[in-house]
Amino acid sequence: MDEKKIVEETIEKYAKYINPGLARYYKFAQLDTVEWTSAGSKVWDVFGNEYIDCLGGFGVFNVGRNHPRVVQAVKEQLERLPLSTRTLFNKHQADLAEMLARITPGNLQYSFFGNSGTEAVEGALKLARFYTGREKLISAKNSFHGKTMGSLSLSGREVYKKPFLPCLPEVYHVPFNDIDALKQLVDKETAAVILEPVQGEGGIIIPSPDYLKQVKSICEKQGALLILDEIQTGLGRTGKMFACEHFDVVPDIMTLAKGLGGGVLPIGAFISTAEIWKVFEENPFIHSSTLGGNPLSCVAGIETLKILQDENIPELTRIKGEKVLQRLGEIQAESEGMIQEIRGIGLLIGIQFGDSDIASLIAMEMAQRRVLVAYTLNNPTVIRIEPPLTISYEELETVLSRLNESLVSVRVLLNEIEGE
Ligand code: PLP
Repeated sequence: MDEKKIVEETIEKYAKYINPGLARYYKFAQLDTVEWTSAGSKVWDVFGNEYIDCLGGFGVFNVGRNHPRVVQAVKEQLERLPLSTRTLFNKHQADLAEMLARITPGNLQYSFFGNSGTEAVEGALKLARFYTGREKLISAKNSFHGKTMGSLSLSGREVYKKPFLPCLPEVYHVPFNDIDALKQLVDKETAAVILEPVQGEGGIIIPSPDYLKQVKSICEKQGALLILDEIQTGLGRTGKMFACEHFDVVPDIMTLAKGLGGGVLPIGAFISTAEIWKVFEENPFIHSSTLGGNPLSCVAGIETLKILQDENIPELTRIKGEKVLQRLGEIQAESEGMIQEIRGIGLLIGIQFGDSDIASLIAMEMAQRRVLVAYTLNNPTVIRIEPPLTISYEELETVLSRLNESLVSVRVLLNEIEGE
């Protein structure tokens, strides 16, 4: 195998057949190599260089990469029945839906499966509009719910929407964690409020402890539904199975994706109560997907939910997160103001820098030291630490010491620039 040739040809093909801008971006960020194998928290490139993955495909690897149980379950299913007839009953879809009903809070019971996060959000929005017979939708500024037209309309960053205007009608955005602003907007015309329990791409923003409860009570008063988008925060990421459990709130509809496929296959879901789901009963094909809920992805989902429980991943994530936050606090104190704030819950952690140039220099320095991190999509001044949840303490220590080295290097560079 000629590794150098693989890298050169892949980059060339990205420039020629995928997107020249993306090819330039990866090269500029000094990520000009090709990923080849993975396990646990690590990825190896085609040359065999080892990286600790602290981006984790934007938070996908809640049971680590290539978990042997997920891989085995998928292999067995692959040989037998990878995709569904779509006319006969499918056991694995039924089993996964039952498991989700058991582990999600409150009386969430029925699931619909798609292939991605944004599809889950689209379905949730449709269900809310259908059930309430209302059109108005409210979300938070700086939120991220996906990039297809419906979820994009609800997402809170203008740059991603501008070329595609007009978006969905009757969509309003309020500042996150501002209960008065929300109270003024939610009325008898409102179908739903959609929020991330903790804003991920907005820069890891944790609301005040009673915010979501107050949102729920405002929604209840006006007959609007509360959709909690747990696509990034769900399945152990924040130190509980679902982030809404930190805030003692049960949504009317919950969306999941990312980690649900065990880091092996794509799958997304929206889940709601029997009462709300009634509107889908009369015509069960009113919302459908050819490939969503396929047996292969469902067995990955089933095994993932079992592993999360068997290996006590949410609780271990909570403990790891607390240790990392404490160490990051010490690093911040010594950073001479370069790090402005550390925010986090479980292993969803943001490091706030003074500006986006410093954040991207840090990400580049970390990449050179073989730790993969990235900025949050709606806030490029924040670097996220969002590793596979199975990451070891030793690996976390390595990440933190490489962060320290990167801070020193960037400081030297900035001092040189200032001195010029
Ligand atoms: N919702 C949230 C909270 C997300 O973080 C994301 C992706 O980052 C999405 C929705 C969209 O998911 P996907 O990229 O799978 O469409």
